[in-house]
Amino acid sequence: MHLARFPRIHLAHLPTPLEPMERLSRELGGPEIWIKRDDCTGLSTGGNKTRKLEFLMAEAADQGADLVITQGATQSNHARQTAAFAAKLGMGCHILLEDRTGSKDPNYNLNGNVFLDYLHGATAEKRGPGLDMNAELDSLAARFRAEGRKVYSIPGGGSNPTGALGYVNCALELVHQANEMGLRIDRLVHATGSAGTQAGLVVGLKAMHAQVPLLGFGVRAPKPKQEENVYKLAVATAEKLGCPGVVAREDVAANTDYVGEGYGIPTEGTLEAIEMFAQLEGILLDPVYSGKAAAGLIDFARQGRFGRGEKVVFLHTGGSAALFGYTAAFDFGERLAPAVAQ
Ligand SMILES: *Cc1c(COP(=O)(O)O)cnc(C)c1O
Repeated sequence: MHLARFPRIHLAHLPTPLEPMERLSRELGGPEIWIKRDDCTGLSTGGNKTRKLEFLMAEAADQGADLVITQGATQSNHARQTAAFAAKLGMGCHILLEDRTGSKDPNYNLNGNVFLDYLHGATAEKRGPGLDMNAELDSLAARFRAEGRKVYSIPGGGSNPTGALGYVNCALELVHQANEMGLRIDRLVHATGSAGTQAGLVVGLKAMHAQVPLLGFGVRAPKPKQEENVYKLAVATAEKLGCPGVVAREDVAANTDYVGEGYGIPTEGTLEAIEMFAQLEGILLDPVYSGKAAAGLIDFARQGRFGRGEKVVFLHTGGSAALFGYTAAFDFGERLAPAVAQ
């Protein structure tokens, strides 16, 4: 497994910190919880897409692309980070945004990540729910190619074997860090969506024989579908890396009990997790991904599903820019009233 064989633009701030969360651990009274700060990868407020885009955008540059296109939900972090990376390389960026929530809130539709997409100079167009977004992306690519553009098309979430290399790299980085610190990782947990993060991690961990169990907390698809998506991408990523067969189906585990009503709709547990991280650790989560994964982590701890003293690492995948699209979800009630009255 030798990642330097693949084109890469080194732009992420690495290694990201690996830190204990002492107040949260004390509050939950069970496992020792650590955090891997992939919200601090740099690139327009950071997040997990930076690592994937290092490999994807290098491929785009090698192919001489002058326009990068991609797709995601309205408050897509992936779209925002792609727009920022394209700006850095002097490429155009055009984004397809899918209305998955039906929200009419102006902040949801114009603030947060959407605001940043435009600030980075990207253009965007909207699509209603329920379409095959990758097919939409293909027809968009054909449209731009007919106009003479050199298009590089990135799938939703940057989740293909090239993007997943970024999380193979994260697995190497994390295990190396833990070795240096003398930290025995009993479990690694994180939010899983378009599957590239978990696929890359599982390939990296298995190829190293790290014996670190990995659990993805789902944000959209039901468990069998989510696990199948991760497994398929892990197999393809291992092949690309030259270590086919390192991942078995049973190495891929997702828990989808914390999705709630659906993608992009925070639950009570999501909001509680966001407030707990903010108020116990000074860390910003997001309402779509990391907040749902943290809700799962907190509930597992409360239910005693982690052993006492077990060392659990929460991979923070970023997303805080989306908070500004979701201010209406938080009810600060009386705490906010005096400030507004003045
Ligand atoms: C995209 C994203 C995820 C999910 O990662 P996948 O590789 O798509 O599974 C998790 N957290 C945040 C904040 C994201 O933007």
